[in-house]
Order: sequence, then structure tokens, then C-alpha cells
Amino acid sequence: MSASSRLDVRLAAGVAAGKLSGRAIRLLGRGGGTAAPGLIANLIEPNILNKLTGKVRDGRIVVAGTNGKTTTSRMLADILERADLRVIHNRSGSNLVRGISAAFAAQSSWSGQPRGDIAVIESDEAAFPDVVRRVNPRIILLLNLFRDQLDRYGELDTIATRWRESFETLRPDQLLLVNGDDPALAAITEDLAAQRRLFGIQESRYLLDELPHAVDSALCRRCGAPLRYSQLFLSHLGEYVCDSCGFRRPPLDFAASDIDLHGLDSVSLRLAHDESILDLSLAIPGLYNAYNAIAAAGAALALGVGPALIAETLGAFRSAFGRIERVSYRGRQLVIVLVKNPVGFDEVLRMLAVGGLSDPALIVINDLDADGRDVSWLWDVNVEQLANGSSPIYTSGIRGADMAVRLKYAGIATERIHPLKALANSFEQFVDTIPEGGSGYILPTYTAMLELRRMLAHRGVVADFWEQ
Ligand SMILES: [Zn+2]
Repeated sequence: MSASSRLDVRLAAGVAAGKLSGRAIRLLGRGGGTAAPGLIANLIEPNILNKLTGKVRDGRIVVAGTNGKTTTSRMLADILERADLRVIHNRSGSNLVRGISAAFAAQSSWSGQPRGDIAVIESDEAAFPDVVRRVNPRIILLLNLFRDQLDRYGELDTIATRWRESFETLRPDQLLLVNGDDPALAAITEDLAAQRRLFGIQESRYLLDELPHAVDSALCRRCGAPLRYSQLFLSHLGEYVCDSCGFRRPPLDFAASDIDLHGLDSVSLRLAHDESILDLSLAIPGLYNAYNAIAAAGAALALGVGPALIAETLGAFRSAFGRIERVSYRGRQLVIVLVKNPVGFDEVLRMLAVGGLSDPALIVINDLDADGRDVSWLWDVNVEQLANGSSPIYTSGIRGADMAVRLKYAGIATERIHPLKALANSFEQFVDTIPEGGSGYILPTYTAMLELRRMLAHRGVVADFWEQ
């Protein structure tokens, strides 16, 4: 009997603890049961994640970045599944070591054999170095580093520095797939033993005139001088150069062009790579989803998946929980979009404001731990884009009143602003304001989204998130 097939008792006990406590917690109806089982499993076998991931035949892909992790890793997992691979994926957005451990325990046999050929692992920014150390990734997919949740993580600089230290431990057989339009990511992935390939947007007709005020600044990491952008696509992502030291966006290996945004419906683009062209047409909207698709396609191409299969999967891809959700309720179409940070909120408003906001919108702001306790970030959002439009904007949630104040200061006519009571008491009232057959937008923060999903599930509208 080989050593690898002998039962590892401690590992099996850890897996069992993870599986059983996950089931018990789900039976008790407490959340999705994603983190606590991992905690218990790690207490029994501290190396559970290292051991389980080490047995995944075709390797691990770690996906990291401030925005787009969930969507990108779901896109990539879908592509790999369609390529007939069994994929292990921490789907429910639990992206700390304990949550990833729980996902692996749930998707392994009782003796500790993962039921998958390849793993797509979404990692939290702060946990990233530990995750990389434990799972020994074949590919690391780096999406972006935005100012976000600074109250939780401290300065962006600290994260970038810790990531750099982690990258310096990588080997030449490991691949970093990096968003080259993000100057910080380009800078911290230079001159490593690991391979590096870059993705990004080569050229676009959708450009920002200046850095949005949600962005602190875009400074050169080499010399500290301000970067100059010849094209600015989204937040601090673009084609940049430092006039002081010559640092500039590196040449792109996966280069998007011919981007076409179709409002809230879709986006299409052309991706050039290795002297080939891949045309992608997505059924989900926005420039940030274009970035997610470019990243997922780049990783799939690097893994040797055929381009036709990639285009087909991405064309059929529907939005993940918590991104864009469309539901039909009482004869109305509700478009629900999670807002969780200034950059994401800006992008959502940019989509809504194309041609002027024409349908009623409900913005639900909570300030519980998972939302971020400090709502001052609302002042970093370019709410002013909504001023050009005529439809009413309703506010709700624990900090709904703060949002109403923010709307007022954005120059939106007072007769368009309608503060409502708590979501439980005002949701139907909002639906009433939408004409039958019409549509409305709901923009909730994270915990408000969970509350909304529970309310809708209670009304039989969508499956409960935890059952997905
Ligand atoms: Zn410089």
C-alpha cells in the first residue's frame, strides 16, 4: 500500500468534523454554515487545507483582488466544468482559510480525497499570503487592488507589500496572471522567479476624463510620482506612464479592444492573445464584467482550454449572487445590484445613468459589520451622475437617511428623493411605485441584500441563497 493511499486519520477526522458541523449548522438554520465548520476542521487538522488541495490532480487556481473575485472565479469554474473537469470551488463567498477548508471538506470523501480534478479558490485580500502558502497554486489570477474596506485591512500599501513578499516565494513553474491596467499590481509582480502574463484593455472608446474621487491617488510605486494616464478605463485602471522614472504599463498578453457596452444588458469585446483573436459576447453588463471575463478567459487559455468553449461558456454566463439579479415580482421587473464600495457603486450608477435614470430606484444602506461600519464612503461615490434624470429615488436601510442626505448634496431635485422606513416595512411600498409591467432598480449593501433575498424567498420569488 502506498503512503498516499493509507488513511490519514487526523485528516479524515478534520474532514468529518467539517462535514458534520456544516450539516448541523445548516439544520439549525444559522447562515450557510461555511466558516465555523472550517474553524473546527482546522482545530483538528491544522494542515487540512494543505493536505486536501495537495491531492487535486490538475492543480489550484487562486483568484484574488478587491472587486470581481466571485464573478471571475464562477466564470472560470463554469468554463472548466464545461471542459469536463470536476471543479472544486469555494462558491459561497467564504474566502478565508477556514471557509476554503470547509468548502474542501464538503467536497471531499470521508477519507479525505477531494472530489475534483482542479480547484478554483477565491481568496480574501488579507488572507491571500496564507492561502497561497497552503494551496501551492499553479496559477494566481490577480484582478485589481482598490481602496476598499480599509477599516478592516489597513492601508492598501500594506496589502501590496505583503502580496509582494508572497510572490517572492513562488517558483518558475507557477504563473501569475495579472491585470496590467492596475499600476500597483504591475509594479509588485515585476522581476519574480514565477512566470508572469498580463491582461487588460488595449484601447477603449469609454474613457474617464480624470481619476474618480473614490480613488485616493495613482502614484508610481517605484518613485512615488503621480502617474499619467493616456487612457483611463475604470477607477485607477488604464494605460499609464510615470514621467519621472519611466515605469509604464507593460505589454499585454491578453489584450481587449472593440468593447461595446449595452447598458444594463450586455457587453461585447475582442480579446487578442498569442496571435489569435477571441470574440466574447457577455450576457452581463458593465466594464468591470468585461475585466472579469478577460481574466477568466486568460486563465482558461493558459490552462489550455479551447477558445470556442470559452466564448460559449461566457456567453451563457449569468450573474452570481450579489452582483446583478433580475426577478419578476407582482408583474414588475426588479433589477437588484449589490453596492459595497465606492468604486463598485460608481460603476453601477454609471450603467444606470446612461441616457438618464428613467426607472424608480431604491437604495438600501446598512452599516452592520459585513457592510462596513463607517458609511462615510457614500461621500466618495459619484452620486452626482444621477442628477441627470427624472425618476424618483427611494432610500431605506439602517443608514437610509444618510443616503438621502448624500443624494440631496449631489444636487438631485428634492422632489425626486423619498426616504422610506426599514426595508421590511417599505419594500412593497416601493414596488407599488413601479407601474405594472415596468421595472425598478434596487441597490442594497451586503446585509441589505441578504435581507432582501430572505424577503423575496419568503414570498416564493427566488431560491434561498444558501440552497444554491
Ligand atoms: Zn516612477
